[in-house]
Amino acid sequence: MFKAYKYRVYPTSEQKDLLVKSFGCARWFYNYALNLTSQTYQDTGKGLSRNDIIKLLPELKKEYEWLKEPPSQVLQQVALDLSSAFLNFFERRAKYPNFKKKHKKQSIRFPQGFKLDGEYLSLPKLKEVYCKVSRLPQGKLKSVTVSMTPTGQFYASCLYDDGVERPSPLTSLNKGEIKAIGIDCGLTHFAITSDGSKHGNPKYYRKYEEKLAKKQKQLSRKQKGSSNRNKARIKVAKVHEKITRCREDFLHKLSRNLVDKNQVIIVENLAVNNMVKNHKLAKSISDAGWGIFCTMLKYKAEWEGKTYIEVDRFFPSSKTCNVCLNQVGSLLLDVRFWDCPKCLTQNIDRDINAAKNIKDEGLRILAGGHLATASGVRVRPSKGTAFARR
Ligand SMILES: [Zn+2]
Repeated sequence: MFKAYKYRVYPTSEQKDLLVKSFGCARWFYNYALNLTSQTYQDTGKGLSRNDIIKLLPELKKEYEWLKEPPSQVLQQVALDLSSAFLNFFERRAKYPNFKKKHKKQSIRFPQGFKLDGEYLSLPKLKEVYCKVSRLPQGKLKSVTVSMTPTGQFYASCLYDDGVERPSPLTSLNKGEIKAIGIDCGLTHFAITSDGSKHGNPKYYRKYEEKLAKKQKQLSRKQKGSSNRNKARIKVAKVHEKITRCREDFLHKLSRNLVDKNQVIIVENLAVNNMVKNHKLAKSISDAGWGIFCTMLKYKAEWEGKTYIEVDRFFPSSKTCNVCLNQVGSLLLDVRFWDCPKCLTQNIDRDINAAKNIKDEGLRILAGGHLATASGVRVRPSKGTAFARR
């Protein structure tokens, strides 16, 4: 099984220079090849293959000397990344590839020629970059992605193959009693589980929101192109990075906890994109990172040989009474508690009721033997997940 580990790295100023140049070259080559592929696609209906893109390199290096500076594998990797981005687009797993932007997170990937020894990460041309790792992961290092955040911090994401085969969900299910949990995405809380727990209060982020608003206001007052504006831009990026780190940490802990305690994890397949269009919900949904959370649940479940199920988004989990399965006509979003007119159960908590229904629906699917769904085949693609897997 592949597992990724993300470490902070501390390049020297010379190494930083080379890394920044390499980010620039990789970005330039990606955008150049994307533009060319787009033209070819418009003209012929077909993209360029990985080899077509690699073949561009020798001529380009003659024309643009600076392309010779970065480690050569990095540009070849760009060709592979771009051709797989197009493949994902053609197979409808992802949107049309976008141009890489200078002010976003920068990264390069090394497919070979690296070594991590616990104190240093050796990379082609860069030699040894300081990278303190207290416990080295088991297995074989398969690839290294070095990235730089907008505030100038460097990270290495190391992909390891531990050589262990993925445990089959079937074997873990056959070990007697099944502990299953249904998880619903809430508005007052990030997640509500069928055992009646609520996790992650959005109020937690409010203090960051205020800080972000303050820094953004400061940025808007600075003159365009001034060095003060650039400083203010980095301050805004720092708050964003802090929020991202806190959220990822929360999502990692919650998903780890739920996967550890259960054999079957069932979530509702929310069409997050559709919900984000609704302006009232937009902020809370996009803030909450439900898609990232589901991806984490899925791969953590796979690592442990547990079962991850997504229940169809059209399944009426909110409006069905979990006690008598009576379905009420409609339930406005601000109704948090309701009474069932049929079995007369009072004060049904909207979110917990939905989570229980999601669990029951998942178990029904599982009992029906649709294990293609159960092992997570229907999960939406992870779009180059930025978080390290842990
Ligand atoms: Zn009822």
